[in-house]
Amino acid sequence: MMIYTCKKCRFMFEDKGYVRQCPDCGSEEIRPATKAEQEEYRGYQEEFNSESQTA
Ligand SMILES: [Zn+2]
Repeated sequence: MMIYTCKKCRFMFEDKGYVRQCPDCGSEEIRPATKAEQEEYRGYQEEFNSESQTA
């Protein structure tokens, strides 16, 4: 899985294939997320998962 960031709205998303557009705003100005952004994204995902498990 690759993580991408939209330059326009800063939405982060992951996809295994080649992505051309932001799924949130439709902008084509997306770039691969930096390492720091990837860690932030993963951290957010883990937090979200642990919250849903306790609930
Ligand atoms: Zn966007």
